Amino acid sequence: MKTFCILSAFALVGTCATPKYTARIQSLKDNIKLEDSTLVLKYANTITSEELSTQLYKFASKDFEGRRVGEKGQKKAAQFLKSYYINEAIESPLGTQNYYQTIPKHFFSKGIKASENVLAYIKGSQYPDDIIIISAHLDHLGINDDGKINYGADDDGSGTVALMEMAQAFNTAKKEGNGPKRSILFLHLTAEEIGKRGSEYYVKNPIFPLENTIANLNIDMIGRVDKIHENNKNYLYLIGSDRLSKELHYLSEKVNNAYFNIDLDYRFNAENDKNNYYSRSDHYNFASNGIPVIFYFNGEHSDYHNPTDTPDKINYSLLEKRTKLIFATAWQLANQKNRLVVDTKSQFLN
Ligand SMILES: [Zn+2]
Repeated sequence: MKTFCILSAFALVGTCATPKYTARIQSLKDNIKLEDSTLVLKYANTITSEELSTQLYKFASKDFEGRRVGEKGQKKAAQFLKSYYINEAIESPLGTQNYYQTIPKHFFSKGIKASENVLAYIKGSQYPDDIIIISAHLDHLGINDDGKINYGADDDGSGTVALMEMAQAFNTAKKEGNGPKRSILFLHLTAEEIGKRGSEYYVKNPIFPLENTIANLNIDMIGRVDKIHENNKNYLYLIGSDRLSKELHYLSEKVNNAYFNIDLDYRFNAENDKNNYYSRSDHYNFASNGIPVIFYFNGEHSDYHNPTDTPDKINYSLLEKRTKLIFATAWQLANQKNRLVVDTKSQFLN
């Protein structure tokens, strides 16, 4: 009898709590109002597969020698990005002509030379102190002992050119009087391939206070299709979106459902996923500081971390669509009325 009472009490708590939780999630979803659907599509449509392709064939060319951190090819890649932003008249938060956050040699070990994150920025018109960071790593593996270049077209040339095109789209919007209300930092990170050191350096030496950094959308490989999706290429893995802010997760879904209908695959977001992708790219350094993140990823493929990761193997129309999704998600974060809410520990517990 005693046992029965305890069980009943538990059952009661269970039945009472579940609808409450569901109701809270429902009201959260209902309260997300998409901003400026006509404008977001207008500027998203300035991101084209042709421009992504043109930039990627340059960025993943042999000129940049596989972009090994601290080496000549990586320096060329950083210079390429800097020149792009100067040409596009997209400013740096560090001041005129200074687009580099230099990371000194002593921050690294094993003889790695000094390197640099590259930063470009569009200042928000209404809440300039609120920062959304869109990131991708600019470095890769360099040249193998046999002389073969690791081109890193997907890893992470795809994310790099996505950032360049998104920055251009936001800047075009700004020139036409439709600039983002919150500020956006386009952060090209170095030293990801040697252990996410560029993002580690950034969070230890942030250009904008981390408490004002409302989200990090991190891109690492979005130009290819993995084995699992050979028959359904219209997909993208999203990792981390619900971990620190349920609002971020539902906002991201709402944007996708309204404009793109990409099959968002969350299998790698499982807490017990053995690949542990959540901790494997730069977003993790932001998440560790309590900043909500989404990691966008196409999964691994046979050319992953091989010299055969070349720009001719990229699916450019897919890269375009995925870039547009991330652009529209950033647009929503930058322009919606409320600042993204970070969940407290108890808020969404049963
Ligand atoms: Zn990568």
